[in-house]
Amino acid sequence: MLYTKPPKVNSFKGDVFKSDLKALVIPVFQKEGKPLVDGIVEEANTFVNNALKNAIDLGQFKGEVSEVLKTFAENRLIVFIGLGDLSANKENKMENIRRSYAAAARALKDSFDRALFTVDDEKLDNDLKREAIIGALLGSYSLEVFKNEKKNKLKEVYFNVEEYIINEAVAIAEGVYLARDLANAPPNEVAPPKLVEKVKELFKGLKNVEIKVFDYDDLVKKGFGGIVSVGKGSDEKPRLIILKYKGSQKDEKPLAIVGKTIVFDSGGINLKPSQSLFEMRADKAGGATALGVLWSVAKLSLPINLVVLIPAAINVPSGSSYLPSDVIKMWDGTYVEVTNTDAEGRLTIADALAYAAKEFDAKEIIDLATLTGAAWIALGPLIAAYFTRDEDLSKLIEKASRITGEKLWRLPMEDSYKKLFSRKAPLGDVANAVARAGGAITAALFLERFVHGKPWIHLDIAGPGIGSDAQGLAPEYWPQGIAPGFGVRLLVEYLKNKVSKKN
Ligand SMILES: [Zn+2]
Repeated sequence: MLYTKPPKVNSFKGDVFKSDLKALVIPVFQKEGKPLVDGIVEEANTFVNNALKNAIDLGQFKGEVSEVLKTFAENRLIVFIGLGDLSANKENKMENIRRSYAAAARALKDSFDRALFTVDDEKLDNDLKREAIIGALLGSYSLEVFKNEKKNKLKEVYFNVEEYIINEAVAIAEGVYLARDLANAPPNEVAPPKLVEKVKELFKGLKNVEIKVFDYDDLVKKGFGGIVSVGKGSDEKPRLIILKYKGSQKDEKPLAIVGKTIVFDSGGINLKPSQSLFEMRADKAGGATALGVLWSVAKLSLPINLVVLIPAAINVPSGSSYLPSDVIKMWDGTYVEVTNTDAEGRLTIADALAYAAKEFDAKEIIDLATLTGAAWIALGPLIAAYFTRDEDLSKLIEKASRITGEKLWRLPMEDSYKKLFSRKAPLGDVANAVARAGGAITAALFLERFVHGKPWIHLDIAGPGIGSDAQGLAPEYWPQGIAPGFGVRLLVEYLKNKVSKKN
């Protein structure tokens, strides 16, 4: 790890039509519904002997978002990509640009090892240029680590963009690559003890990052009843990985991110039906995203203090598995009565949330979890559910979402549903699972007990975290049919906004 390296991005200076690169990408906006042929587009049209204008006249190119037209001249491939409406608002334009540059990268990556992407200096500000690079890099991703025959050739790309914008885009794209690799990694590659080694190796060279690991004995001794119970059925025992990033000079309390990291979820003794088992390797997408965020934040040297908690466990049935009707004493002393061993994620992250709240005294906590089928059923594969009681945090996360195009919908914290927890748990303080109806809401209410009053956002990414059923619906910068690293860009943007508000 990084298993998959993004293509190296270089700053290109000079005449794009005179470079020796065999693939050249030229973006084309629309104005009043028609492709806008001016500036560099007009030059490119001359370079390809009017092929663009001919295609437009014949109705073969309209400049729509992610539309690709391939032409050839002087032994080079010239790819025109549509960027959609020039007068679209900035947030929409950012999304259009990400999608279009990703579509161009997809069209090239299996045939070319180097490519030159152009941006129109007059039409794109720095934010839009950055999103163009991010789009191209995310569209270049192929998960081929476990394939002998690798199709993706793209190793190096060039942009006529200044170096500092490239560095920012690369830092963010690398975080997403990391999250994708990890969310999709097979469980035999990243069982909790192996995951610890990989995370250590990965973050070793990164400035201001410190790693602490609780192994199984530590977890038992310190009373992490949730993590221990869920993970003890596997021979690969659970771990709690804690990464601290100190970016602020001041001694301020950290913001904490907790990511659900069930390396494989069989459901445990409440075993899932056979057809639901296959994709459960992606039940660690929350943890993968949390690590991706930390990576990008450290690479960007954001002046904040951040702590990331990764409770890694494998949930399988065996003679030592936890049982339905067990009563677990959690790290913070809460007694949880187990009504369903497949509601395991909330047990592992509850311990981590409480630890973040009490041990780190976090000033704010965010968790990401592929938590409930209910959230997925409610919102589908592209949209995450989120919960918070804090109106300011709600505004901030929604603003970040509009900028990065990672879609969210707020669901309510319905207090009257809390009654379900005691009704279902005659022995303990609460039950871990109470009802199918409103399952995303009751899961959020369960977790809320463990944040001990801290400002908190819970992101249930059961749909977009796994992403397998998003094929054909997702934007072009998502990989096909696998976990897309959902939430990395969202939280990096959220944190960037916090920093700029503070200064
Ligand atoms: Zn489960």
